[in-house]
Amino acid sequence: MVSIMTRSDPKIIVALDYPNEREALNLAEKLCPEQCRVKVGKELYTATGPRIIRELTRLGFEIFLDLKFHDIPNTTARACAVAADMGVWMVNVHASGGGRMLEKCVQTLDGYGAERPLLVGVTVLTSLSGRELSEIGISRSLEEQVLLLAKLCERSGLDGVVCSAQEAEMLRRELPPSFQLVTPGIRQNNMQADDQKRTMTPVEALKAGVSYLVVGRPITQSPDPVAALRAMYQEISA
Ligand code: C5P
Repeated sequence: MVSIMTRSDPKIIVALDYPNEREALNLAEKLCPEQCRVKVGKELYTATGPRIIRELTRLGFEIFLDLKFHDIPNTTARACAVAADMGVWMVNVHASGGGRMLEKCVQTLDGYGAERPLLVGVTVLTSLSGRELSEIGISRSLEEQVLLLAKLCERSGLDGVVCSAQEAEMLRRELPPSFQLVTPGIRQNNMQADDQKRTMTPVEALKAGVSYLVVGRPITQSPDPVAALRAMYQEISA
């Protein structure tokens, strides 16, 4: 059986992709911090600012601040520092920002010692296909590009990457076991993929070596989000 959840380390991160605080907290108040972590992304954070982080922290949640910073090294590192000051559990940056940017972020977060958030790099968005990569001038295959960026993140001292679960097996072969693989694009069988291209089921993803599953619409758009999360855990443990 795949290990799915311990009291302190739940494997599912629920993406609170809502346009306002009220809807986000409405779901969060029904969820249990021992069963999932929550992710605050661009839509919700743009609407609410740091207030939502305080509110979710008050409810007891560990938070993945998914703002995918991508800028010059100094600006990106300072943004990571603000995220650390807010006390988030995980923060991310685009790996394509380059080695110097990644190293500067690691160096800055190291200043927070044991309180430091995990830092993960976005490799290639799970909504992108190989054809779309060539549209933006990248001629190597999608897998090669993901591996190249993941290795850059590892060399730069990041804790892991955001990637598709479809790339997890390959990355597990090439990177140390402690390197965290965080994967959106999770869909149960017979579920619509929405705008995601490289999807996998929760069971397949964990078998492939994924550390954390990011799940948005399959839970948030469900008529009963709490039941949808429970069903996902049941499917994993079956
Ligand atoms: O609704 P769905 O399960 O597709 O949500 C996936 C979440 O993960 C969204 O919040 C999206 O912004 C985020 N994400 C992603 N691909 C990445 C990084 C983050 O889909 N590479």
